[in-house]
Amino acid sequence: EVIAFDLVETASVAASWVLRGTKRDVQVTFSGESNLIVEGRPGHIQQVVMNLVQNALDALETEEQGHIELSAARAGGFAVLSVADNGPGVPEPLRQSIFDPFFTTKAVGKGTGLGLSISHKIAQEHGGDLRLCPEQDGTCFQIALPLPKDPA
Ligand code: ADP
Ligand code: MG
Repeated sequence: EVIAFDLVETASVAASWVLRGTKRDVQVTFSGESNLIVEGRPGHIQQVVMNLVQNALDALETEEQGHIELSAARAGGFAVLSVADNGPGVPEPLRQSIFDPFFTTKAVGKGTGLGLSISHKIAQEHGGDLRLCPEQDGTCFQIALPLPKDPA
């Protein structure tokens, strides 16, 4: 089940599953590098991307001009995929709590509060990490996954 796969390809498929299910008019853009091959469980990474894109859609509920940007980059031996939205952002006092299991600010029945904690766990199981991007308008999460080392 652990295979090499294209991170951007895998993420865009997962994003499109979520976006197909919404009636809202949200602009989605992809940017950055392609051909970022990582090793792991693509289905799990798709679950992470689906969680992040669903959260972005939820955050854009009240936004006139909703925009989600997925971007990919290579940084220090990692492939880094960012999912950013121009919603209201995560208030500073909550930034420590959002990865906790069952933490949610959504109405009962709308959120389980498990998406980010499960996604964080999946990232760590891949030897990577999931965190909020530093200083940013709106909200941005980045998932970093190790790039396989070149055979010596
Ligand atoms: P849920 O979506 O079920 O609430 P998550 O673990 O996915 O659970 O997210 C936890 C909380 O983090 C959300 O309830 C929300 O307060 C905050 N959050 C996550 N993503 C965003 C985002 N894109 N914009 C604003 N807040 C967010
Ligand atoms: Mg969620």
